[in-house]
Amino acid sequence: MSEFKKPRCVYLGGNGITRRLGIGGDSPVSIQTMWKSPIVGADVQSLAREVDQLGRLGCDIVRFAVPDAESATVLSALSSLTVMPLVADIHFDHTLALACIAGGVAKIRINPGNIGSKERVREVAEAAGDRGVPIRIGVNSGSLPRDLQERAAGLIASGESPEKARVASLVEAATREAAALDELGFSDCIVSMKASSVRETVLCNEAFARRFDIPLHIGVTEAGPLIGGVVKSAIALSRLLTEGIGSTVRVSLSDTPESEVIAAREILSESGARSGGVRIVSCPRCGRNGFDVHGFVARWQRELMSLDKDITVAVMGCVVNGPGEGKHADIGITGAGDSVIIFRHGEIVRRENVAAGVRAVDDAFREELDKL
Ligand code: SF4
Repeated sequence: MSEFKKPRCVYLGGNGITRRLGIGGDSPVSIQTMWKSPIVGADVQSLAREVDQLGRLGCDIVRFAVPDAESATVLSALSSLTVMPLVADIHFDHTLALACIAGGVAKIRINPGNIGSKERVREVAEAAGDRGVPIRIGVNSGSLPRDLQERAAGLIASGESPEKARVASLVEAATREAAALDELGFSDCIVSMKASSVRETVLCNEAFARRFDIPLHIGVTEAGPLIGGVVKSAIALSRLLTEGIGSTVRVSLSDTPESEVIAAREILSESGARSGGVRIVSCPRCGRNGFDVHGFVARWQRELMSLDKDITVAVMGCVVNGPGEGKHADIGITGAGDSVIIFRHGEIVRRENVAAGVRAVDDAFREELDKL
């Protein structure tokens, strides 16, 4: 038997517009990202299209910062234009949470400890409970309550390892916040404890999952730029996911929401937490290439990963490995001297001259892809 508790299921969305989604229980691990810009003044219709595009890429939940009343108004309007469950990320001002809950957002992220009096927490919990809106408690190592920072410093001074002291403080902070909601009879909560270190992220989530069945939103915070952030996230999340910890994931990158979603997809897929979708197998390219693999992947990655298909696509630079990979792929494209060959299940179905240009190659590939 696992030493970790199976998370209970918390539902969000399902109000007639927004898709209903389970987090925890037997629900698939969901993918989320966060919008990277202020939304005040944005064209809401075009925002909705971009959010829907993230959904086609595999994203299940999108979170928005709500620092002021105007943002709450825009997010509420956006909630009525997309099936994507949207999350309002709120600090300090509980009236923003109340406005977003009334406006139809699917979930709020707020920490009871930073919105002031117990009465304000009660107001938010009651409004969320009435509307079936879950609350995510998000604890970060960089913003722990002062007393827990002091306690960690005291533990370190008395010889405890800094890592253990910080992990204990993160878990205690999350436990306190969850208890504040529990005292009010509110149980639809999700917890996240994030550190920028892989080990601390893993250790605090393991410690929490040993004690509580609250679903966990997992991720490494401030993970860094694309490559470093993906590596750190992959190490932390794959460990937790293979232990059965983590009901929803975010890969935090100093990069686009699309990159976060694609990275999360790959991590879930390779951890066995999610199956299906489009898998791209592409070679790194070398001096033998007769076809610009990098350019092709850059042009096609988003479109391919947005397809509602369960297929493998092979993109290879030359005939050394191209036809071999093509045999295992539903569709493959490879350079072959001055030609580009397109395979379907290992059979050559098309040959284009490289000199015909990128457009002709892309058109030929699209025609063959559409036949799948
Ligand atoms: S498939 Fe060809 S071009 Fe690509 S890395 Fe292998 S040898 Fe190089």
